[in-house]
This record gives sequence, C-alpha cells and structure tokens, in this order.
Amino acid sequence: MGVSPELKPGWRSTLRGTVGAAARSAWHAGLALAVPRACIVCGAAMPLRPARLVCGACVTRVPVLPKPWCARCGHPLQPRAADGALPDCPLCPLLDSRCTRARSVCWVPHLHSTPLLAALKYQGWWGMADTLADLMARAGRDVVAGLRNPVLVPVPLAPSRLRERGYNQSLHLARALGRRVGARVRDDLIARTRATVSQTQLTPVERRANVHNAFVVPAQRSAAVRGLSVVLVDDVLTTGATLNACAEALLGQGASDIRYWTFGRARSDADRP
Ligand SMILES: [Zn+2]
Ligand SMILES: [Zn+2]
Repeated sequence: MGVSPELKPGWRSTLRGTVGAAARSAWHAGLALAVPRACIVCGAAMPLRPARLVCGACVTRVPVLPKPWCARCGHPLQPRAADGALPDCPLCPLLDSRCTRARSVCWVPHLHSTPLLAALKYQGWWGMADTLADLMARAGRDVVAGLRNPVLVPVPLAPSRLRERGYNQSLHLARALGRRVGARVRDDLIARTRATVSQTQLTPVERRANVHNAFVVPAQRSAAVRGLSVVLVDDVLTTGATLNACAEALLGQGASDIRYWTFGRARSDADRP
C-alpha cells in the first residue's frame, strides 16, 4: 500500500517537527498496520480510504466568513443597527486600488482554522493544501469569474525560508486550486529581490516598508505578464502588504487584472467584537 506523494510531509520539516510529530507518526502507523488512521488535528480515527489528513468534523468547524460581505474584497460587514445599511469596508482601503476582487475562507487566527494552516505551513503536511483548496474553491470560486484565461500566481517565499521549510505552501495551494477551477499556475512570474523579515510582529506601516520593492518580474518573463489576468494566491491576507507588493510588480509589467485569493484573513480593529 503506497502513500500518495501529495500527502507526505516535507522531510526538512519532519526533522524539526514538534507538535505534529506524534500525529504524523500515528498517521503513518495507521497506514503501515492497515488500521484506521488518525486525524492530524483532533486525533479522531478515520477510514483508510479516501486518504485524508483531517477528519470531516475538523473541516466543518472551520469558521467560514459570515455574510454580508463587501462585494469587492469579500470582507464581512456588520449592518448598522439603526438603518441596516452596510458600513464602509475596513479592508478595501488597504488593498491596491487596482485589485478588483479578493476572497478568503475564514478568520485567522482562530481555534479551528489555525491548526489546519499550521499543519500546512509549519508542520510539514503539504498535502493539507488539498483540504484548504477545497474550502477556498467552495467559498471563493467567483474570484476567477469574468477573467479570460486567469493564471494563479503563488506569493514566492524568500530563498532562506524555502530552504528551511522545504516547500512553498502557497505554491501547493495554487496547484490544488488550479486543478479545482481549471486555471494555469505560474510560479516563475514573480521573484523576491531580497529577504524580508517575518511580518507577524510588524505594524501595518512596518509591513509596507518591509516588502516595498521586495518583488520583481524577472526580465525574461515581462512579455508573459503583459495583458495577463492574475490571481495571486497566499495562505493569509493580513494587511495586504505582501500581496500589494506582488501586485505592484505585476501591474508594472502590464498585467491587465489582479485579484487576491487566500485561505485565511486577519481581523482588522474594526472587526473585533
Ligand atoms: Zn479531526
Ligand atoms: Zn472591501
């Protein structure tokens, strides 16, 4: 009985795996002994076929963004109590004004979405991209609507991060999404010009400075970008700084349409209860 290569954890991350190590060995033991395998998030037993990393209950618990949404960026909006009118979108002003649409599945961090994302990003389970892409295609398929021959472009990782992680989680997401919506994937259209520090602890202003001019379309790719409809794919949309910097590079080379597609979305101050 073989394990699909799509489900194998990246070996580099396996070596330094911490929280996920026990879950990973249980999952592989399940394969070896032909007993039910364990969900890598909650540990519940799962059938051997179809091969999945997480159980249906863990997927169902992912907190899908509530409607009504902002039509442009898909951000949840709370109707005003007085007249039911929708307030101005808190996210739209942060996005590059030329980005015509953005979609995400759920809030992050969140008790039920963070473990799935962490498995993909930090614990070496790149096969998790299929589960996240299922949710992304269900919640945000209209991000490609109306585009002629859209191309999915993953946000590139810095080379040092790529060496450490062994894979780019956004490329795995883009490939899984491409199979679901019938779109091409190109990971050669944008490159990092320099390393950037992790954005996690930075303010919005610092994030913008951190990624300013950090991406470029390689000279030999500029003809391929001209007139292209691009959907940028990343794991999380926080302030939009990274996606905007990628958009800037692509639009500068004549991309005709830019949209953003992510699994997670960070709450802004206006979204906090
Ligand atoms: Zn589970
Ligand atoms: Zn908006």
